[in-house]
Amino acid sequence: MLLQPAAERAYLGDALHAPVRGEVELLADALISVRADGTISAIQRNASHQSRAQIEHFEVRGALVRARAGQYLLPGMVDLHVHAPQWPQLGKALELPLEEWLQAYTFPLEARYADESFAQSEYESLVEGLLANGTTTALYFGTIHLPATQRLADICLRRAQRALIGRVAMDNADQCPDFYRDTSAASAEAQTRAFITYVHSLPGNEAGLVKPVITPRFIPSCTDELLRSLGALARESGCHVQTHCSESDWEHQYVLERYGITDTAALDRLGLLGRHTVLAHGNFLSDPDLAIIGARAAGIAHCPLSNVYFSDAILPLRHLLAQGIHVGLGTDIAGGASPSILENARHAVIASRYLEAGVDPAQSRAQRRRADSRIDALTAFWLATAGGGIALDLPVGVFREGFQFDALLIEGGSERGNLRLQPGDSPADLVQKIIYHAGRGNIREVWVANRRVHSRSGD
Ligand SMILES: [Zn+2]
Repeated sequence: MLLQPAAERAYLGDALHAPVRGEVELLADALISVRADGTISAIQRNASHQSRAQIEHFEVRGALVRARAGQYLLPGMVDLHVHAPQWPQLGKALELPLEEWLQAYTFPLEARYADESFAQSEYESLVEGLLANGTTTALYFGTIHLPATQRLADICLRRAQRALIGRVAMDNADQCPDFYRDTSAASAEAQTRAFITYVHSLPGNEAGLVKPVITPRFIPSCTDELLRSLGALARESGCHVQTHCSESDWEHQYVLERYGITDTAALDRLGLLGRHTVLAHGNFLSDPDLAIIGARAAGIAHCPLSNVYFSDAILPLRHLLAQGIHVGLGTDIAGGASPSILENARHAVIASRYLEAGVDPAQSRAQRRRADSRIDALTAFWLATAGGGIALDLPVGVFREGFQFDALLIEGGSERGNLRLQPGDSPADLVQKIIYHAGRGNIREVWVANRRVHSRSGD
């Protein structure tokens, strides 16, 4: 599909978004005017009656997109945790423990990205697949290979997906296989710097649609020397940082044994925790850890599907939100078997209910439950959109003047799946139905920064 050129446009129809966590706002019959650079310049409600002149202004230029009755504009989905190279093994071998899954499947697969043409075809397929699922912003781990990770940046820019991409750093010989490891801390740092320079100088990326991310895989896979140098680079460059943190019993214990302090405290001392840091998982964060993360205003990528397989626990999400922690959602491809943030939003609700009820019937009700843990579908919708934007400190996730127009057009209908949106549905009903039933078949169009990046085939 050819991308639309950047141009001033307007979108007319019903829009749903969640500027406040746990609430939904319907912008009925809204005219959303967007500048060529993707910035929302104005939002007028009841526009068909009150903004006829503006509608005509766009219509005569062929720059008006109309949503029909029963179709809704939503903010684009934000995925805070994707392992781009793991796309070919989505849904594979999830019965294995994490360590075996990594050694037998994941590291050998990631090593194949030394082959640039393999990387090119898999990354094309990945970005196309995520856009079709409504993911307009993705925070990607690449591999240790600089050329392959550069190809991912090229593809995201060409297809106009908002992307934050990291060339993975992992040099610890005790934890990483010989065939897939940085040869030294110095070379890992040098290649991270080279990737940052490459992305910043990509022609067509002047607005920063694609951003480089400093990406130590996690503390166990890196030496102290590498972690310290990446912390210094984070301060020097101001780039985003991503890593895994307190995901599982093993990882949490490993860091306690190596440093005598928690994962979070160690990352903080190493200079890797700041406003532009996103920590994947965080299931075993303590209250003192949360206090540090809150003070640094770092974000958490909650990956409810992946946590089922590899994390040993359910994230006490509501507790984090009550502490004011920035949280969004992640698919954790391929630890999670779905590329859909909507599906992960659904599972965030379900996981929270398991946590609140408890799961072991052999325990008494009081022993098996963790009170006040549930979240509702409206909160999940906020996490998938506005929450992700806040975690990344990017102006996306809500329809607001000055924010970027990243959006999708969603519709129900029995021929497209199980989503049925009806005229009498309240805004909260609509969002609940979307969270529980919407899939990629319901996503008709997707835009990033005011450019159409996906249109459902067959229409
Ligand atoms: Zn991960």
